[in-house]
Amino acid sequence: MRIIDFWDQGVAYHADNQAFVDNTSKYTYGEADKDIHKIAAAIHGNGFAKGAHIGVYAPNSNDAWLSLLGLMRAEGIWLPINPRNSVEVNVDLSDRFNMDIMFYDACFNAEVKAIAEQVPSIKAFVCITGDGETGVSLADFCAGHSDFHQIGEQVDNELAAIFPTGGTTGKSKGVLMNHEALETFAINWFTHFKFEENSVHLVVAPMTHSAGIMGCLHFMRGGTNVITKHVDPLSIMQDISEHKVTHLFLPPTVMYMMLAHEEISNYDYSSLQHFVVGAAPTSVEKLKEACKVFGPCMTEAYGQTEAPAAITLKAPWDYMDKDGNINEDRLAGIGRPAGLNMVKILGEDGLEVPRGEAGEICVKGRLVTLGYLDNPEATSEAHKNGWLWTGDVGVMSDDGYIKIVDRSKDLIITGGFNVYPNEVEQVISENPAVQECSVIGVPDEKWGESVKAVVQLKPGQTTTDEDVIAAVKAKLGSVKAPKTVDFIDDLPRSPNGKVMKAELRKTYWSGKD
Ligand code: ATP
Repeated sequence: MRIIDFWDQGVAYHADNQAFVDNTSKYTYGEADKDIHKIAAAIHGNGFAKGAHIGVYAPNSNDAWLSLLGLMRAEGIWLPINPRNSVEVNVDLSDRFNMDIMFYDACFNAEVKAIAEQVPSIKAFVCITGDGETGVSLADFCAGHSDFHQIGEQVDNELAAIFPTGGTTGKSKGVLMNHEALETFAINWFTHFKFEENSVHLVVAPMTHSAGIMGCLHFMRGGTNVITKHVDPLSIMQDISEHKVTHLFLPPTVMYMMLAHEEISNYDYSSLQHFVVGAAPTSVEKLKEACKVFGPCMTEAYGQTEAPAAITLKAPWDYMDKDGNINEDRLAGIGRPAGLNMVKILGEDGLEVPRGEAGEICVKGRLVTLGYLDNPEATSEAHKNGWLWTGDVGVMSDDGYIKIVDRSKDLIITGGFNVYPNEVEQVISENPAVQECSVIGVPDEKWGESVKAVVQLKPGQTTTDEDVIAAVKAKLGSVKAPKTVDFIDDLPRSPNGKVMKAELRKTYWSGKD
Protein backbone atom coordinates (compact mmCIF):
# COMPACT_ATOMS: atom_id res chain seq x y z
CA MET A 1 0.00 0.00 0.00
CA ARG A 2 1.04 3.58 -0.64
CA ILE A 3 0.29 6.63 1.48
CA ILE A 4 -2.28 7.63 -1.13
CA ASP A 5 -3.95 4.24 -0.58
CA PHE A 6 -4.16 5.00 3.18
CA TRP A 7 -5.79 8.28 2.19
CA ASP A 8 -8.30 6.52 -0.07
CA GLN A 9 -9.34 4.34 2.89
CA GLY A 10 -10.05 7.48 4.88
CA VAL A 11 -12.10 8.95 2.04
CA ALA A 12 -14.02 5.71 1.47
CA TYR A 13 -15.05 5.17 5.08
CA HIS A 14 -14.87 8.60 6.74
CA ALA A 15 -15.59 11.16 4.01
CA ASP A 16 -17.26 13.59 6.43
CA ASN A 17 -14.54 13.50 9.10
CA GLN A 18 -12.20 16.47 9.47
CA ALA A 19 -8.95 15.56 7.73
CA PHE A 20 -7.00 18.83 8.03
CA VAL A 21 -7.38 21.85 10.26
CA ASP A 22 -4.98 24.78 10.17
CA ASN A 23 -5.40 28.36 11.30
CA THR A 24 -7.00 29.46 8.03
CA SER A 25 -9.12 26.55 6.80
CA LYS A 26 -10.63 23.12 7.45
CA TYR A 27 -11.16 20.21 5.08
CA THR A 28 -13.12 17.01 5.47
CA TYR A 29 -11.73 13.91 3.76
CA GLY A 30 -14.33 14.29 1.02
CA GLU A 31 -13.59 17.98 0.41
CA ALA A 32 -9.82 17.54 0.38
CA ASP A 33 -10.07 14.58 -1.98
CA LYS A 34 -11.64 16.73 -4.70
CA ASP A 35 -8.62 19.09 -4.68
CA ILE A 36 -6.20 16.20 -4.56
CA HIS A 37 -7.71 14.67 -7.71
CA LYS A 38 -7.54 18.02 -9.50
CA ILE A 39 -3.87 18.52 -8.64
CA ALA A 40 -3.00 15.00 -9.78
CA ALA A 41 -4.92 15.41 -13.04
CA ALA A 42 -3.21 18.77 -13.66
CA ILE A 43 0.26 17.30 -13.13
CA HIS A 44 -0.43 14.82 -15.93
CA GLY A 45 -2.41 17.37 -17.98
CA ASN A 46 0.61 19.70 -17.95
CA GLY A 47 2.74 16.98 -19.47
CA PHE A 48 4.42 15.42 -16.45
CA ALA A 49 4.38 11.65 -16.35
CA LYS A 50 4.38 9.17 -13.48
CA GLY A 51 7.79 9.39 -11.80
CA ALA A 52 8.18 13.18 -12.16
CA HIS A 53 10.29 14.62 -9.32
CA ILE A 54 8.11 17.05 -7.38
CA GLY A 55 8.97 19.24 -4.39
CA VAL A 56 6.62 21.03 -2.01
CA TYR A 57 8.34 24.12 -0.61
CA ALA A 58 5.94 25.39 2.02
CA PRO A 59 5.48 25.71 5.74
CA ASN A 60 3.07 23.24 7.32
CA SER A 61 -0.40 24.08 6.04
CA ASN A 62 -3.50 22.47 4.58
CA ASP A 63 -2.41 23.68 1.13
CA ALA A 64 0.94 21.93 1.49
CA TRP A 65 -0.70 18.64 2.49
CA LEU A 66 -3.13 18.77 -0.42
CA SER A 67 -0.23 19.31 -2.84
CA LEU A 68 1.66 16.42 -1.29
CA LEU A 69 -1.30 14.06 -1.67
CA GLY A 70 -1.94 15.42 -5.18
CA LEU A 71 1.56 14.55 -6.29
CA MET A 72 1.23 11.14 -4.67
CA ARG A 73 -2.00 10.46 -6.56
CA ALA A 74 -0.16 11.52 -9.73
CA GLU A 75 2.50 8.90 -8.84
CA GLY A 76 5.13 11.60 -8.71
CA ILE A 77 8.29 11.11 -6.69
CA TRP A 78 8.23 13.48 -3.75
CA LEU A 79 11.32 15.55 -2.97
CA PRO A 80 10.85 16.64 0.66
CA ILE A 81 12.41 20.11 0.66
CA ASN A 82 12.50 21.43 4.18
CA PRO A 83 11.50 25.10 4.17
CA ARG A 84 13.69 25.65 7.20
CA ASN A 85 16.80 24.87 5.15
CA SER A 86 18.86 27.73 3.80
CA VAL A 87 18.25 28.69 0.16
CA GLU A 88 21.73 27.40 -0.62
CA VAL A 89 20.83 23.91 0.69
CA ASN A 90 17.52 23.89 -1.17
CA VAL A 91 19.22 24.99 -4.41
CA ASP A 92 21.63 22.11 -4.01
CA LEU A 93 18.90 19.55 -3.22
CA SER A 94 16.60 20.71 -6.04
CA ASP A 95 19.50 20.42 -8.47
CA ARG A 96 21.00 17.15 -7.24
CA PHE A 97 17.58 15.47 -6.90
CA ASN A 98 16.52 16.59 -10.42
CA MET A 99 13.39 18.47 -9.51
CA ASP A 100 10.81 18.79 -12.30
CA ILE A 101 8.07 20.76 -10.53
CA MET A 102 8.14 22.88 -7.42
CA PHE A 103 4.89 23.59 -5.58
CA TYR A 104 5.51 26.54 -3.26
CA ASP A 105 3.92 28.90 -0.79
CA ALA A 106 4.12 32.60 -1.66
CA CYS A 107 5.72 33.31 1.70
CA PHE A 108 8.87 31.95 0.01
CA ASN A 109 8.63 34.16 -3.10
CA ALA A 110 12.16 35.50 -2.71
CA GLU A 111 13.70 32.09 -2.04
CA VAL A 112 11.85 30.50 -4.96
CA LYS A 113 13.06 33.24 -7.31
CA ALA A 114 16.62 32.50 -6.23
CA ILE A 115 16.10 28.77 -6.78
CA ALA A 116 14.53 29.38 -10.22
CA GLU A 117 17.57 31.43 -11.25
CA GLN A 118 20.07 28.89 -10.01
CA VAL A 119 18.30 25.68 -11.05
CA PRO A 120 17.04 26.35 -14.60
CA SER A 121 16.29 22.64 -15.08
CA ILE A 122 13.11 22.93 -12.93
CA LYS A 123 10.34 22.91 -15.51
CA ALA A 124 7.40 24.36 -13.54
CA PHE A 125 6.81 26.47 -10.46
CA VAL A 126 3.29 26.39 -9.07
CA CYS A 127 2.24 28.72 -6.29
CA ILE A 128 -0.23 26.90 -4.03
CA THR A 129 -1.29 30.08 -2.20
CA GLY A 130 -2.25 32.15 -5.23
CA ASP A 131 0.02 35.19 -4.92
CA GLY A 132 3.27 33.82 -6.26
CA GLU A 133 5.87 35.74 -8.25
CA THR A 134 7.40 32.77 -10.10
CA GLY A 135 5.59 30.42 -12.50
CA VAL A 136 1.82 29.97 -12.31
CA SER A 137 -0.87 29.82 -9.65
CA LEU A 138 -2.36 26.47 -8.69
CA ALA A 139 -5.70 27.60 -10.15
CA ASP A 140 -4.06 28.30 -13.53
CA PHE A 141 -2.08 25.05 -13.35
CA CYS A 142 -5.32 23.11 -12.83
CA ALA A 143 -7.53 25.10 -15.24
CA GLY A 144 -8.90 23.07 -18.12
CA HIS A 145 -7.82 19.73 -16.68
CA SER A 146 -9.94 16.91 -15.31
CA ASP A 147 -11.51 16.75 -11.83
CA PHE A 148 -10.53 13.11 -11.50
CA HIS A 149 -7.31 11.18 -11.79
CA GLN A 150 -7.20 7.40 -12.00
CA ILE A 151 -4.10 6.18 -10.19
CA GLY A 152 -2.13 3.22 -11.59
CA GLU A 153 -1.23 0.01 -9.82
CA GLN A 154 1.80 -0.05 -7.55
CA VAL A 155 4.76 -2.11 -8.74
CA ASP A 156 7.49 -3.60 -6.54
CA ASN A 157 10.15 -1.26 -5.18
CA GLU A 158 8.65 1.78 -6.82
CA LEU A 159 10.08 5.06 -5.50
CA ALA A 160 7.78 7.18 -3.35
CA ALA A 161 10.30 9.88 -2.46
CA ILE A 162 13.94 10.87 -2.42
CA PHE A 163 14.39 11.88 1.17
CA PRO A 164 17.36 14.03 2.19
CA THR A 165 19.10 12.72 5.31
CA GLY A 166 19.21 15.14 8.23
CA GLY A 167 22.73 16.31 7.35
CA THR A 168 23.86 16.15 10.98
CA THR A 169 27.12 14.48 10.08
CA GLY A 170 27.83 16.17 6.75
CA LYS A 171 26.16 16.93 3.42
CA SER A 172 22.67 15.44 3.07
CA LYS A 173 22.40 12.25 1.07
CA GLY A 174 19.27 11.36 -0.92
CA VAL A 175 17.59 8.26 0.46
CA LEU A 176 15.70 6.24 -2.16
CA MET A 177 12.46 5.71 -0.29
CA ASN A 178 10.22 3.03 -1.75
CA HIS A 179 6.52 2.58 -0.97
CA GLU A 180 7.21 -0.65 0.90
CA ALA A 181 9.36 1.23 3.46
CA LEU A 182 6.62 3.78 4.13
CA GLU A 183 4.00 1.04 4.31
CA THR A 184 6.13 -0.81 6.85
CA PHE A 185 6.57 2.41 8.83
CA ALA A 186 2.77 2.53 9.03
CA ILE A 187 2.34 -1.13 9.95
CA ASN A 188 4.99 -0.78 12.67
CA TRP A 189 3.22 2.16 14.27
CA PHE A 190 -0.19 0.56 13.94
CA THR A 191 1.00 -2.47 15.85
CA HIS A 192 2.05 -0.24 18.75
CA PHE A 193 -0.44 2.62 18.84
CA LYS A 194 -4.16 3.00 18.65
CA PHE A 195 -5.29 5.19 15.79
CA GLU A 196 -9.03 5.67 15.87
CA GLU A 197 -11.64 7.73 14.10
CA ASN A 198 -11.34 10.32 16.86
CA SER A 199 -7.51 10.44 16.84
CA VAL A 200 -6.14 13.95 16.59
CA HIS A 201 -2.55 14.38 15.48
CA LEU A 202 -0.85 17.71 16.08
CA VAL A 203 1.49 18.23 13.15
CA VAL A 204 4.27 20.44 14.45
CA ALA A 205 7.32 19.07 12.69
CA PRO A 206 7.58 19.83 8.98
CA MET A 207 6.01 17.12 6.83
CA THR A 208 9.47 16.67 5.35
CA HIS A 209 10.45 14.86 8.54
CA SER A 210 9.01 11.54 9.64
CA ALA A 211 7.69 13.36 12.72
CA GLY A 212 5.47 15.42 10.43
CA ILE A 213 4.55 12.68 8.00
CA MET A 214 3.17 10.64 10.91
CA GLY A 215 -0.09 12.43 10.08
CA CYS A 216 -0.53 9.98 7.20
CA LEU A 217 -1.02 7.14 9.64
CA HIS A 218 -4.28 8.63 10.84
CA PHE A 219 -5.74 8.67 7.34
CA MET A 220 -6.74 5.01 7.37
CA ARG A 221 -8.99 5.55 10.37
CA GLY A 222 -10.29 8.95 9.32
CA GLY A 223 -8.42 10.80 12.09
CA THR A 224 -7.76 14.54 12.10
CA ASN A 225 -4.49 16.40 11.52
CA VAL A 226 -4.24 19.76 13.25
CA ILE A 227 -1.49 21.60 11.43
CA THR A 228 0.62 24.32 13.02
CA LYS A 229 3.04 26.58 11.19
CA HIS A 230 5.36 27.51 14.00
CA VAL A 231 7.34 25.47 16.48
CA ASP A 232 6.43 27.54 19.50
CA PRO A 233 6.18 25.75 22.86
CA LEU A 234 3.30 27.87 24.13
CA SER A 235 1.11 27.35 21.06
CA ILE A 236 1.84 23.61 21.14
CA MET A 237 0.62 23.51 24.76
CA GLN A 238 -2.48 25.52 23.84
CA ASP A 239 -3.21 23.35 20.80
CA ILE A 240 -2.98 20.12 22.80
CA SER A 241 -5.57 21.46 25.26
CA GLU A 242 -7.85 23.10 22.73
CA HIS A 243 -7.95 20.33 20.10
CA LYS A 244 -7.76 17.41 22.55
CA VAL A 245 -4.71 16.11 20.74
CA THR A 246 -4.13 12.36 21.06
CA HIS A 247 -0.82 12.00 19.16
CA LEU A 248 2.16 14.21 18.48
CA PHE A 249 5.79 13.68 17.55
CA LEU A 250 8.51 16.20 18.37
CA PRO A 251 12.28 16.25 18.52
CA PRO A 252 13.45 16.19 22.16
CA THR A 253 14.64 19.80 21.92
CA VAL A 254 11.08 21.08 21.55
CA MET A 255 9.91 18.96 24.48
CA TYR A 256 12.72 20.49 26.58
CA MET A 257 11.54 23.98 25.57
CA MET A 258 8.01 23.07 26.69
CA LEU A 259 9.24 21.72 30.04
CA ALA A 260 11.26 24.91 30.64
CA HIS A 261 8.26 27.14 29.83
CA GLU A 262 6.72 29.07 32.72
CA GLU A 263 3.17 28.22 31.57
CA ILE A 264 3.69 24.47 31.31
CA SER A 265 1.32 23.67 34.17
CA ASN A 266 -1.53 25.86 32.90
CA TYR A 267 -2.85 23.46 30.26
CA ASP A 268 -4.70 20.16 30.09
CA TYR A 269 -2.79 17.27 28.53
CA SER A 270 -5.14 14.46 29.54
CA SER A 271 -6.17 13.70 25.94
CA LEU A 272 -2.62 12.63 24.98
CA GLN A 273 -2.23 8.93 24.18
CA HIS A 274 1.23 9.08 22.60
CA PHE A 275 3.60 12.00 22.91
CA VAL A 276 6.43 10.69 20.77
CA VAL A 277 9.94 12.08 21.00
CA GLY A 278 12.76 10.90 18.84
CA ALA A 279 15.20 11.60 16.04
CA ALA A 280 17.96 12.46 18.53
CA PRO A 281 19.18 11.22 21.92
CA THR A 282 16.75 12.12 24.68
CA SER A 283 17.68 12.98 28.26
CA VAL A 284 16.34 10.38 30.71
CA GLU A 285 15.95 13.05 33.37
CA LYS A 286 13.80 15.18 31.07
CA LEU A 287 11.74 12.12 30.06
CA LYS A 288 11.00 11.45 33.74
CA GLU A 289 9.92 15.07 34.14
CA ALA A 290 7.76 14.75 31.02
CA CYS A 291 6.02 11.64 32.41
CA LYS A 292 4.97 13.73 35.42
CA VAL A 293 3.72 16.64 33.30
CA PHE A 294 2.13 14.86 30.34
CA GLY A 295 1.12 11.58 31.95
CA PRO A 296 1.69 7.95 30.87
CA CYS A 297 2.00 8.78 27.19
CA MET A 298 5.70 9.42 26.68
CA THR A 299 6.94 7.31 23.80
CA GLU A 300 10.30 7.27 22.10
CA ALA A 301 11.06 6.47 18.48
CA TYR A 302 14.52 5.58 17.26
CA GLY A 303 15.02 5.56 13.53
CA GLN A 304 16.80 7.16 10.64
CA THR A 305 15.88 8.36 7.19
CA GLU A 306 17.28 5.12 5.80
CA ALA A 307 14.75 3.13 7.91
CA PRO A 308 12.01 5.64 8.50
CA ALA A 309 10.61 6.80 11.80
CA ALA A 310 11.00 3.75 13.91
CA ILE A 311 13.55 1.00 14.01
CA THR A 312 12.64 0.64 17.69
CA LEU A 313 9.84 2.07 19.80
CA LYS A 314 9.54 2.52 23.55
CA ALA A 315 6.04 3.06 24.88
CA PRO A 316 4.85 3.59 28.49
CA TRP A 317 4.14 -0.14 28.94
CA ASP A 318 7.84 -0.82 28.33
CA TYR A 319 9.06 1.23 31.30
CA MET A 320 6.08 1.89 33.59
CA ASP A 321 4.01 -0.46 35.75
CA LYS A 322 0.26 -0.07 36.24
CA ASP A 323 0.79 2.09 39.31
CA GLY A 324 2.91 4.53 37.33
CA ASN A 325 6.27 3.44 38.77
CA ILE A 326 9.09 3.96 36.33
CA ASN A 327 11.83 1.45 35.62
CA GLU A 328 14.70 3.86 34.96
CA ASP A 329 16.87 1.34 33.20
CA ARG A 330 14.10 0.68 30.69
CA LEU A 331 13.37 4.39 30.35
CA ALA A 332 17.00 4.95 29.40
CA GLY A 333 16.73 2.54 26.46
CA ILE A 334 15.21 2.92 23.00
CA GLY A 335 12.83 0.00 23.45
CA ARG A 336 12.29 -3.01 21.26
CA PRO A 337 12.21 -3.55 17.49
CA ALA A 338 9.10 -1.92 16.09
CA GLY A 339 6.51 -4.10 14.33
CA LEU A 340 8.03 -6.12 11.52
CA ASN A 341 11.66 -5.04 11.98
CA MET A 342 14.47 -7.43 12.73
CA VAL A 343 17.17 -5.73 14.78
CA LYS A 344 20.54 -7.16 15.82
CA ILE A 345 23.67 -5.76 17.37
CA LEU A 346 26.48 -6.82 15.08
CA GLY A 347 30.24 -6.70 15.47
CA GLU A 348 32.67 -5.63 12.74
CA ASP A 349 32.88 -9.28 11.64
CA GLY A 350 29.17 -9.21 10.82
CA LEU A 351 28.30 -11.59 13.67
CA GLU A 352 25.92 -10.85 16.51
CA VAL A 353 27.80 -9.70 19.64
CA PRO A 354 26.90 -11.33 22.96
CA ARG A 355 23.98 -9.73 24.79
CA GLY A 356 25.14 -6.84 26.97
CA GLU A 357 28.08 -6.01 24.70
CA ALA A 358 28.28 -2.99 22.41
CA GLY A 359 28.13 -3.30 18.63
CA GLU A 360 26.48 -1.57 15.68
CA ILE A 361 22.68 -1.45 15.56
CA CYS A 362 21.63 -3.18 12.34
CA VAL A 363 18.15 -3.56 10.90
CA LYS A 364 16.61 -5.85 8.32
CA GLY A 365 13.16 -5.98 6.76
CA ARG A 366 10.85 -4.04 4.48
CA LEU A 367 11.45 -0.84 6.47
CA VAL A 368 14.92 -0.59 4.97
CA THR A 369 15.03 1.78 1.99
CA LEU A 370 16.82 1.13 -1.30
CA GLY A 371 20.10 3.03 -0.80
CA TYR A 372 21.28 6.50 -1.77
CA LEU A 373 20.75 8.47 -4.97
CA ASP A 374 23.89 8.53 -7.15
CA ASN A 375 26.06 7.33 -4.29
CA PRO A 376 26.97 3.64 -4.68
CA GLU A 377 29.89 3.92 -2.19
CA ALA A 378 27.66 5.18 0.62
CA THR A 379 25.02 2.60 -0.33
CA SER A 380 27.42 -0.32 -0.12
CA GLU A 381 28.88 1.00 3.13
CA ALA A 382 25.47 1.13 4.80
CA HIS A 383 23.90 -1.97 3.21
CA LYS A 384 26.07 -5.02 3.95
CA ASN A 385 25.24 -8.72 4.27
CA GLY A 386 21.51 -8.03 3.98
CA TRP A 387 21.52 -5.58 6.89
CA LEU A 388 21.30 -1.81 7.13
CA TRP A 389 24.19 -0.66 9.30
CA THR A 390 22.92 2.40 11.12
CA GLY A 391 26.21 3.85 12.32
CA ASP A 392 24.78 3.82 15.85
CA VAL A 393 26.40 1.86 18.63
CA GLY A 394 24.01 -0.04 20.86
CA VAL A 395 23.64 -2.79 23.44
CA MET A 396 20.87 -5.39 23.68
CA SER A 397 19.87 -6.81 27.06
CA ASP A 398 19.09 -10.49 27.66
CA ASP A 399 15.39 -9.76 27.26
CA GLY A 400 15.83 -7.88 23.98
CA TYR A 401 15.70 -4.26 25.11
CA ILE A 402 18.03 -1.99 23.25
CA LYS A 403 20.06 0.91 24.58
CA ILE A 404 21.76 3.32 22.27
CA VAL A 405 25.29 4.14 23.29
CA ASP A 406 25.89 6.81 20.64
CA ARG A 407 26.65 7.41 17.01
CA SER A 408 30.00 5.90 16.15
CA LYS A 409 30.97 9.18 14.43
CA ASP A 410 30.54 11.09 17.70
CA LEU A 411 32.94 8.90 19.70
CA ILE A 412 35.61 10.93 21.52
CA ILE A 413 39.01 9.31 21.97
CA THR A 414 40.85 11.02 24.80
CA GLY A 415 44.25 9.72 25.85
CA GLY A 416 43.34 6.36 24.28
CA PHE A 417 40.04 6.03 26.19
CA ASN A 418 36.68 5.93 24.42
CA VAL A 419 34.07 8.38 25.64
CA TYR A 420 30.58 8.35 24.17
CA PRO A 421 29.10 11.86 24.52
CA ASN A 422 25.55 10.64 25.15
CA GLU A 423 26.49 9.14 28.52
CA VAL A 424 28.07 12.42 29.65
CA GLU A 425 25.16 14.48 28.30
CA GLN A 426 22.71 12.37 30.30
CA VAL A 427 24.52 13.25 33.55
CA ILE A 428 24.80 16.96 32.74
CA SER A 429 21.07 17.07 31.91
CA GLU A 430 20.27 15.99 35.47
CA ASN A 431 21.24 19.50 36.56
CA PRO A 432 17.86 21.29 36.86
CA ALA A 433 19.30 24.51 35.42
CA VAL A 434 20.28 22.80 32.15
CA GLN A 435 17.89 22.94 29.21
CA GLU A 436 20.11 21.06 26.77
CA CYS A 437 23.77 20.24 26.29
CA SER A 438 26.10 18.76 23.77
CA VAL A 439 29.38 17.04 24.47
CA ILE A 440 32.11 16.94 21.85
CA GLY A 441 35.82 16.22 21.52
CA VAL A 442 38.08 19.25 21.04
CA PRO A 443 41.79 19.34 20.13
CA ASP A 444 44.12 18.81 23.05
CA GLU A 445 47.91 18.67 22.86
CA LYS A 446 48.26 16.22 25.69
CA TRP A 447 45.25 13.91 25.17
CA GLY A 448 44.71 14.23 21.42
CA GLU A 449 41.11 15.14 22.11
CA SER A 450 39.58 16.31 25.33
CA VAL A 451 35.95 16.29 26.43
CA LYS A 452 34.10 19.59 26.19
CA ALA A 453 30.53 20.28 27.30
CA VAL A 454 28.57 23.04 25.61
CA VAL A 455 25.57 23.90 27.75
CA GLN A 456 22.36 25.82 27.10
CA LEU A 457 20.70 26.87 30.35
CA LYS A 458 16.99 27.27 31.05
CA PRO A 459 15.87 30.90 30.87
CA GLY A 460 16.87 32.75 34.05
CA GLN A 461 18.83 29.81 35.55
CA THR A 462 22.50 29.57 36.45
CA THR A 463 25.09 26.93 37.22
CA THR A 464 28.91 26.86 37.08
CA ASP A 465 31.42 24.88 35.06
CA GLU A 466 32.76 23.45 38.33
CA ASP A 467 29.30 22.05 39.15
CA VAL A 468 28.95 20.52 35.70
CA ILE A 469 32.40 18.91 35.82
CA ALA A 470 31.98 17.69 39.42
CA ALA A 471 28.64 16.01 38.65
CA VAL A 472 30.14 14.00 35.78
CA LYS A 473 33.28 13.14 37.79
CA ALA A 474 31.12 11.83 40.65
CA LYS A 475 29.03 9.59 38.37
CA LEU A 476 31.35 8.55 35.56
CA GLY A 477 34.89 9.29 36.76
CA SER A 478 37.44 11.82 35.65
CA VAL A 479 38.24 10.41 32.16
CA LYS A 480 34.69 11.07 31.00
CA ALA A 481 34.33 14.38 32.85
CA PRO A 482 34.55 17.46 30.63
CA LYS A 483 37.86 19.28 30.90
CA THR A 484 36.07 22.49 29.89
CA VAL A 485 32.51 23.79 29.79
CA ASP A 486 31.14 26.55 27.58
CA PHE A 487 27.76 28.17 28.15
CA ILE A 488 25.91 29.21 25.02
CA ASP A 489 22.56 30.96 24.38
CA ASP A 490 21.47 28.60 21.61
CA LEU A 491 23.03 25.37 20.45
CA PRO A 492 23.41 25.16 16.65
CA ARG A 493 20.48 23.15 15.30
CA SER A 494 19.46 21.53 12.05
CA PRO A 495 16.19 22.68 10.46
CA ASN A 496 14.58 19.71 12.23
CA GLY A 497 15.78 20.91 15.63
CA LYS A 498 18.63 18.43 16.11
CA VAL A 499 21.87 19.69 17.62
CA MET A 500 24.48 19.92 14.85
CA LYS A 501 27.56 18.47 16.51
CA ALA A 502 29.50 18.87 13.28
CA GLU A 503 28.85 22.63 13.40
CA LEU A 504 29.75 22.83 17.03
CA ARG A 505 33.00 20.95 16.45
CA LYS A 506 33.97 23.31 13.63
CA THR A 507 34.14 26.18 16.13
CA TYR A 508 36.86 24.41 18.06
CA TRP A 509 38.63 22.50 15.30
CA SER A 510 38.89 25.21 12.64
CA GLY A 511 42.41 25.20 11.28
CA LYS A 512 43.19 21.99 13.18
CA ASP A 513 41.77 19.26 10.87
P1 ATP B 1 23.11 12.53 8.19
O1 ATP B 1 23.24 11.03 7.97
O2 ATP B 1 23.03 13.29 6.90
O3 ATP B 1 24.08 13.10 9.16
P2 ATP B 1 21.06 12.42 10.22
O4 ATP B 1 21.66 11.17 10.69
O5 ATP B 1 20.98 13.60 11.09
O6 ATP B 1 21.67 12.79 8.79
P3 ATP B 1 18.50 11.31 10.44
O7 ATP B 1 18.26 10.16 9.56
O8 ATP B 1 17.38 12.22 10.68
O9 ATP B 1 19.60 12.13 9.79
O10 ATP B 1 19.03 10.90 11.87
C1 ATP B 1 19.14 9.57 12.29
C2 ATP B 1 20.03 9.45 13.48
O11 ATP B 1 19.49 10.19 14.60
C3 ATP B 1 20.14 8.04 13.99
O12 ATP B 1 21.07 7.28 13.25
C4 ATP B 1 20.56 8.26 15.45
O13 ATP B 1 21.93 8.55 15.54
C5 ATP B 1 19.79 9.51 15.82
N1 ATP B 1 18.54 9.14 16.52
C6 ATP B 1 17.32 9.01 16.01
N2 ATP B 1 16.42 8.68 16.96
C7 ATP B 1 17.09 8.60 18.13
C8 ATP B 1 16.76 8.27 19.48
N3 ATP B 1 15.50 8.02 19.83
N4 ATP B 1 17.75 8.24 20.40
C9 ATP B 1 19.02 8.50 20.05
N5 ATP B 1 19.41 8.83 18.80
C10 ATP B 1 18.47 8.87 17.85
